[in-house]
Amino acid sequence: MRMSSLFAPTLREDPAEAETISHKLMLRAGMIRKVAAGIYNFLPLGYRVIKKIEQIIREEMDAKGGQELFMPALQPAELWKKSGRWDVYGPELMRLKDRNGREFCLGPTHEEIITTLVAENVKSYRELPLLLYQIQTKFRDEIRPRFGVMRAREFLMKDLYSFDRDEEGMNKSYEAMYDAYCRVFKRCGLVFKIVEADPGAIGGTGSHEFMVLAKTGEEEIIYCDDCNYAANTNQASSIVTDIDFSLGEEEKPLEKVHTPNAKSIEEVAAFLGVDKRRTIKTLFYEAIYSKDEWEIVAALIRGDYEVNETKLKNYLGCLHLNLAKEEEIAKVAPGKVGFVGPVNLRGVRIISDPTVQKIKNAVVGAGEEDYHFINANPGRDFNLGEVVDIRLAKAGDRCVRCGAELKVTRGIEVGHIFKLGHKYSKAMEAKFVDSDGKEKYYYMGCYGIGVGRTMAAAIEQNHDEDGIVWPMSIAPYHVIVIPVEYSNGEQMRVATEIYDELKKRGVEVVLDDRDERPGVKFKDADLIGFPLRVTVGEALKDGKVELRWRKTKETKLYPIERIVDVVVSEIEKELKP
Ligand SMILES: [Zn+2]
Repeated sequence: MRMSSLFAPTLREDPAEAETISHKLMLRAGMIRKVAAGIYNFLPLGYRVIKKIEQIIREEMDAKGGQELFMPALQPAELWKKSGRWDVYGPELMRLKDRNGREFCLGPTHEEIITTLVAENVKSYRELPLLLYQIQTKFRDEIRPRFGVMRAREFLMKDLYSFDRDEEGMNKSYEAMYDAYCRVFKRCGLVFKIVEADPGAIGGTGSHEFMVLAKTGEEEIIYCDDCNYAANTNQASSIVTDIDFSLGEEEKPLEKVHTPNAKSIEEVAAFLGVDKRRTIKTLFYEAIYSKDEWEIVAALIRGDYEVNETKLKNYLGCLHLNLAKEEEIAKVAPGKVGFVGPVNLRGVRIISDPTVQKIKNAVVGAGEEDYHFINANPGRDFNLGEVVDIRLAKAGDRCVRCGAELKVTRGIEVGHIFKLGHKYSKAMEAKFVDSDGKEKYYYMGCYGIGVGRTMAAAIEQNHDEDGIVWPMSIAPYHVIVIPVEYSNGEQMRVATEIYDELKKRGVEVVLDDRDERPGVKFKDADLIGFPLRVTVGEALKDGKVELRWRKTKETKLYPIERIVDVVVSEIEKELKP
């Protein structure tokens, strides 16, 4: 490819619309252009990266017995109503109607379609296991699309679905995908962590997320260096080391004290001169189970922790969990909202974190403005209700597996795998005939990779002040050849020869044949992130050209007749699996 004809409109300045590094660099390097909020064009350079990531994914899926197919983005509502997700999915599902008023959605995922397809066409256990996948455009009506292709409304995904006879088969398929995912992200040159995750709206029994570590990551990850335990913060378990710090104290009498202008836990603890660990927060949630079934729940947690709403929601088994409104709180807890504590609760379901169970002589709200109770004791002054881990784990807690101290980092989710069990096969009535002649539901799994996200995550992890530093395996081109002086016929001739020879050898190469200043050409080459640069300039008089590595910025001179061999071997070295 000649740079003079390449459609890659680079930008000198950071675009105002971009918040993250990958978003900025993809725009500046001429890889994407915005069409509308969360909707993007992929330009030729960006699309080459996408196709390379897709190819790596295909190879790894096929290696595990996956078969590629292609399903429609447009899906009839009936199927979603059958699975029950039409109502559960919420406003992120892009819904529409055809000219006859029939309802459809633009698929964010394809469980309904594929389960129906398999149920109608696979009849016997002999045809299992079956691993089917596609690379397809998905839709999600994000409330706030942002970070470029990272949180877009239209995006590319690989989704694979496994169908097995029994649980053991499903676990095998899951392990195969786990392994394939490790290989995909390694081959893309990414540093990642595999974390235990919340199955969320997809549902099911087990789930892992593949997170590319990056400071700008949207998700917080808690991990242990000693045993490799890692989990999303919204899912992590941990051991609280000082859970019984007040054990052994004598229970003192409950007393109401004046705490003027102290509202937050910090203010109350500071005013009373007590440890934050001696305070208890009371939060009220509205748990919605269906259109007409809901309840108010009080959640109690020690003052130095936060409630993990994902854990609470999973424990309650509700569809939605929101903070309760004032008038609803007033019905179950007489008193001033914001000052209500467990002592005031009347006939409301209480969920307590274990951190609350062992506190002696706690400080809690008294239900009156500017007043708190001191020396409140669980069991004596208030009920604990159901004691369940509803705590947001934090750095400094201990690992549940090995006891080492937990740390926190951030990551970008690029892959997610789920064991679905019977969730969709039951809902969609998808059965096969087993060897004993009985009809059984499929054991299913589903496995996604965000293709555009993987590209963005690769940039977040591989860039410097000059631009993108592509891993060789997913770089849009491997090498750029730059003749320094456009008007120097000899430089142009040698550069073109090297370019032609590299092409012949199967190298993906760009020749910068533009009539531009050398500085502009070097800047663009760094911005776009070609892993290798061959510069044909001054040294030509000694029969030499320069090779430069984008990653290290190291340069070396080579005789013209050797440069092609050197470039080919450098590329092969990096692409070796
Ligand atoms: Zn550990």
